[in-house]
Amino acid sequence: MTQRFEYDVVVVGGGPAGSSAAYEAAKNGAKVVLLEKEETIAETVRTSGVTWIQNIKEFGIPDDCFNPIRNFSFCSPNNEVTISDTVPRAAVLDVRKTYRWLAEQAKNQGADVFTKTNINNVIKNDDGDIIGVSGTNTQGHVEFFGKVIIDASGFASIVGKAMNLVSQWKRFGAGAEYEVEAENIDKDTWWLMVGQEYSPAGYAWIFPVSEKTVRIGVGVGKPESQIDPTERLKELIERKTGPIKKLGKITPIEFHYGLIPNDGLSRKTVFDNLILVGDSAGQANPLVLEGIRYAIKFGREAGKVASNAIKNGTTDEKFLEPYEEYWRKDIQSKINAASKVQNRWIGLSDKEWDKELDIIKELRPEEFLDFIKADFGLTSMVKLATHHPKLIVRQLFNLIKGAT
Ligand SMILES: Cc1cc2nc3c(=O)[nH]c(=O)nc-3n(C[C@H](O)[C@H](O)[C@H](O)COP(=O)(O)OP(=O)(O)OC[C@H]3O[C@@H](n4cnc5c(N)ncnc54)[C@H](O)[C@@H]3O)c2cc1C
Repeated sequence: MTQRFEYDVVVVGGGPAGSSAAYEAAKNGAKVVLLEKEETIAETVRTSGVTWIQNIKEFGIPDDCFNPIRNFSFCSPNNEVTISDTVPRAAVLDVRKTYRWLAEQAKNQGADVFTKTNINNVIKNDDGDIIGVSGTNTQGHVEFFGKVIIDASGFASIVGKAMNLVSQWKRFGAGAEYEVEAENIDKDTWWLMVGQEYSPAGYAWIFPVSEKTVRIGVGVGKPESQIDPTERLKELIERKTGPIKKLGKITPIEFHYGLIPNDGLSRKTVFDNLILVGDSAGQANPLVLEGIRYAIKFGREAGKVASNAIKNGTTDEKFLEPYEEYWRKDIQSKINAASKVQNRWIGLSDKEWDKELDIIKELRPEEFLDFIKADFGLTSMVKLATHHPKLIVRQLFNLIKGAT
């Protein structure tokens, strides 16, 4: 027997985008359901969880959800740089705790949260517009009808695909990571490791989670490289390559694996009765494959615009458009600039990486962070491109300036 439910807003996917959309829509008075296929929210971790303390504070994420980071170390085959800040501005999230907190926030605003609910199809009206989704839960077949459906299913974009509105991402990052216990951890310092040995089209990382645990990972750009990130990660840990050696004895606790879109902001994200958000919309910074803060911020905006449209009695594409305008205005030029830097980085040989680190050495902490976060404001870029005391830095920022 089919179970049938009716809501104002149906959100598919209980990641940061989905929970944030459900939170804001429920807060704005809509009847909301959040659907997650796994047993619990964040049962499987597919991310390294690096984000920025300023955003954490804006979102109200509690202090016990992250480890603050103050030092940023980079190493290439024959070079090394550490940029030390006076205060921590970056953070490594306890991903489960944070994602569960986000879903709890939605619940507290009155959203229903259904886990173990795997959505695999859409329900359309006679005009071909989406009016619901269907799938299975522990009881059998389920249908959820809604005035607005929000696809927050991540890389899979399950709703957009079932509507034939989007196709599989062609360019993406594949990442593998072990969360490990290690003997010697510098809790304040992250490592990014670049060059062919670490990843031919990407980078490797060490992100400290606590005094006893770090995440060691490898990210590989597809289709640029055929390397399997899991195999490469195992090799690096076995050989104790570069800064991995400093960690001493390593005991793996948990394995993480995930895919992140890297096709630029190529997707349209609003349709009649439908919004795409987070990885489903491709809202990620390609330079460091960072998407959590965008998922939360634009998730909230999606929830707000959807619930406002419902209040106004019409959920046509035109009335959902303010969501797309909002996020494009916020990140489009920054992501375009980050793509330019990524294209430059993807082609670097080991020797060129050694030289690139010499440029990074010249950056002040706030310049480095703006760079890595793709927070490229046009004014600051023009300033850096014309006035930075070092010519090599001016050249780098000229490249970005041209893209903004
Ligand atoms: C290896 C790796 C490392 C990363 N590191 C970072 C980082 O350090 N910092 C950062 O900011 N970003 C990072 N990212 C990117 C970041 O994880 C994503 O941008 C972010 O998770 C996007 O959130 P989301 O809610 O859109 O999607 P997701 O987090 O993928 O959530 C989607 C949810 O939908 C559920 N779902 C999927 N299909 C269905 C279905 N059919 N029915 C019901 N539910 C479904 C999933 O189970 C999941 O819970 C990384 C990504 C990868 C792959």
